[in-house]
Amino acid sequence: MLAAVTRSPGEMVVEDVSGPGRARAGHVIVRPEAVGICGSDFHLFSGDVGALSGARDFYPRVQGHEVSALVEDAGDSTNIANGDRVAIWPLLPCGRCYPCRAARPNVCIRFQLVGVHLDGGLAERLEVPAELVFGVGDLDPDSASFVEPASVAVHALARARLQPGEQMVVFGAGPIGLATLVAAVSQGARVLTVDPVASRRDLAKRLGAEAVTWAPAAELRELTREWTNSEGPPLVIETSGEVGVLPQAADMVSAAGRVVVVGMSCGAVPIRPGAFPEKEIDVIGSSCATAGDFRDAIKLVAAHRTAVAELFSHHFPLARAAEAFEFAMSRPQDAVKIVVTVN
Ligand SMILES: [Zn+2]
Ligand SMILES: [Zn+2]
Repeated sequence: MLAAVTRSPGEMVVEDVSGPGRARAGHVIVRPEAVGICGSDFHLFSGDVGALSGARDFYPRVQGHEVSALVEDAGDSTNIANGDRVAIWPLLPCGRCYPCRAARPNVCIRFQLVGVHLDGGLAERLEVPAELVFGVGDLDPDSASFVEPASVAVHALARARLQPGEQMVVFGAGPIGLATLVAAVSQGARVLTVDPVASRRDLAKRLGAEAVTWAPAAELRELTREWTNSEGPPLVIETSGEVGVLPQAADMVSAAGRVVVVGMSCGAVPIRPGAFPEKEIDVIGSSCATAGDFRDAIKLVAAHRTAVAELFSHHFPLARAAEAFEFAMSRPQDAVKIVVTVN
């Protein structure tokens, strides 16, 4: 079968490899259809694996963790059948560590991720543990591949304890920021999206943002005060990965408010801890998603397919997967979600 193999940092080769045979016990064989490329794929692709937990063997690896697929061999599983379209929850928790025992497997300290520690969707066939496979009904392949990023947004809003009617600021109008916007609006929130790229702000507006803006920190703070009758927003969600956003968010958020950090940034920035007790704000991290969030994300994407369809800006066939990665890593401003069409 054909697979895009990341052989070593920066080296992705589409080649013939021996695929899986029949499904082993507790496993399912699927034929990936659409695979979304995500910022977190670039760490493994470029060899920046320090960001990934532990010293493990990462190469060679088939990448791709935002996967929609058709079931080829459902094996011994009873909840799905051959021919079903599915999305893959890419996270295999250990079930024993503190976060797992605390019902937070999404931050399991020994988790294995499909496309990182296990082979992912950039191949014509893929064997995955059955518990990671979720039926998506009549969703189209692109939308089904968006369930994974949508689940990250669903989880962030659960961490945020979003209240209906609440005003919130979302930093970033990339796929996660826009998914957060769509999910929040569907839960009755009023959203102000902040992004430097005009075309992404326009897209946010079309997807339901009450307001969109980009301004320097001081101006933005004033603007959000005006928007919230001088109180400041009770909720700020950071999805951009820009290191400077956290101090800005802590400064902007209302007293008794919450700041949720979803975006991954590697840099460091000075922050005034006094802002936390002064205003008694909650600063909350949010990572990946639980299986429950994943199920909710399937419903979210199904209910908002037309909105979600606007996010797919570029498609590449599997044979050009390396080119798709290079294109995505150049961070073109007109790109939102770049998808590799596999089968
Ligand atoms: Zn992702
Ligand atoms: Zn664990």
